[in-house]
Amino acid sequence: MHTLLKALLTLVTTLSIHICAHAANENTLKDDPFNPIRIFVIFHDDVPESKRNLTYVDRIRPFVIEFKRITGRDISVVFDRNRPPYTNFNYKSDTPHKMFEEWKKLSWEYKKERHKNNEFLSSRNDRILLITNDYINGSPLMGGIGGLATLPGHSAIASFEQGQAIGHELGHTFNARHDDSEIIYNGWWCETFMFPESFVLRSNCYVFSQANEKRIKAYVDSLY
Ligand SMILES: [Zn+2]
Repeated sequence: MHTLLKALLTLVTTLSIHICAHAANENTLKDDPFNPIRIFVIFHDDVPESKRNLTYVDRIRPFVIEFKRITGRDISVVFDRNRPPYTNFNYKSDTPHKMFEEWKKLSWEYKKERHKNNEFLSSRNDRILLITNDYINGSPLMGGIGGLATLPGHSAIASFEQGQAIGHELGHTFNARHDDSEIIYNGWWCETFMFPESFVLRSNCYVFSQANEKRIKAYVDSLY
């Protein structure tokens, strides 16, 4: 009898722990339009301090300004560093799409980890961006891949080397695409964020084309 009672109690305890764990997983951020969209920006270990210091002002802020103007929604940027296995992820690859599948899995783990540590409630709208020093393959001078992202989705990798790569890859995660990019002439030629190949004599516009603005707005509005 005593043994049976003990077994029953163990079962009840196990069940209640299981239920609690399930309840914790449900504890996600409500996707309220007033909640900022969170972007976790993870510096790869190979990005030198001098570049890290410039990242927000030179690379991320232009995207944030555009995003707020287009969607009317706020962005909250959370920087992270020195956190293996994310910050030492082997991103250089001759099979970039295979590598990116690995990053997608890892970025999901990252989000889960920060949720479990009670640091952030996870939201389905979070973005996880790895900033690298180098290109995935090739180089800015010889050509190559400066970044990858899900279209649309949550994961992205962008090299610091190309001025618009960060805005470009974040743009993809919010459904912007190459086909709607433009070259704008305003005394000189510049390429909008989503222009797929940069030409050395043109400058960067650090804005989205009107067609991509429409795509981003429609996509973000559909999330709520
Ligand atoms: Zn692209």
